[in-house]
Amino acid sequence: MKFELPTLPYELDALEPFITKRTLEFHYGKHHQTYVTNLNNLVMETKFENATIETIIKEGEGQIFNNAAQVWNHTFFFMSFKKGGKTAPEGPLADALNKSFGNFNDFKETFTKAALSLFGSGWVWLVKNNGGSLEIINESNAGNPLRKGLKPIMTCDVWEHAYYLDYQNRRADFITAFWNIIDWDVIENRF
Ligand code: MN
Repeated sequence: MKFELPTLPYELDALEPFITKRTLEFHYGKHHQTYVTNLNNLVMETKFENATIETIIKEGEGQIFNNAAQVWNHTFFFMSFKKGGKTAPEGPLADALNKSFGNFNDFKETFTKAALSLFGSGWVWLVKNNGGSLEIINESNAGNPLRKGLKPIMTCDVWEHAYYLDYQNRRADFITAFWNIIDWDVIENRF
């Protein structure tokens, strides 16, 4: 299977000033692309040559896992954005967030704290567990909840490459910006 960089549903400058075109040129155009290229090279002549990316994430190890998960995670992350959308989820997702976290603001606060407390590189995830309720989990490096049987609903990339060009060391400022561009229609559909 030949993996490809997905086309974004927005222009590279569409998320400014929250995420700049320059950041997307590197984060999507270089980092994400490199994971795709690496994955295509790594799967050649292995048992994963014709596997889906989800299978590689669940069963792969080492560099094959790392690159497959990074491709999937970045696609999931970049597909979550839209400027000027609604500012909070509605319907069943809103109800589930209230049930698990009390209210929407408490959910945002818990997710933000998780993002700030993640040491080093990784991803913060909102996931649906087997019981149908929502949880926030941190994963280091390329970690992906599919490997634990959890359903990813939304994520934030807190590798420094996600925010360094726009915010340098200020991860908190990036998280604040992140909340301004979430496409809640996309997130609701995943739930
Ligand atoms: Mn990244």
